[in-house]
Amino acid sequence: MIIAITCLIAIAAIAFILGVRPKDLPEPEPVSPFAHLDERKAAIYENLRDLQFEYRLGKLSDEDYQHTKLDLQKELAGVLAEVDRLRAELTATGVAPVAEPPKKVAAPKPSGYVCPNCGAKFEQKLKFCGECGKPMKAASA
Ligand SMILES: [Zn+2]
Repeated sequence: MIIAITCLIAIAAIAFILGVRPKDLPEPEPVSPFAHLDERKAAIYENLRDLQFEYRLGKLSDEDYQHTKLDLQKELAGVLAEVDRLRAELTATGVAPVAEPPKKVAAPKPSGYVCPNCGAKFEQKLKFCGECGKPMKAASA
């Protein structure tokens, strides 16, 4: 009887583990239809970079390098074609107004303070422009 119960518990435990496992894996949900293509593109570019790096280190033979590079470029062309196709499809059907994936908008971070008068740039806030001597309105805020 105890053995039977132990067996049942073991089976239940295994079933539990097996049942839970898939949920543990983070499902990569495509944010936009282009997201996964962008990822692939980025991966290919990275591979190309690595390839070039290794080639320069002399880890690859000329032949290997050319061959792999060609493969990667072919793959890249495929991805780019897929992007074009998808975009054309979306535009044609009007399902989504060509929703570019929300690019990490490289916010033009203020790299300094610009004189509104002469355009001179300064690292720090200045009351008066060091170039033209005019007051820098932006800095007074
Ligand atoms: Zn100025």
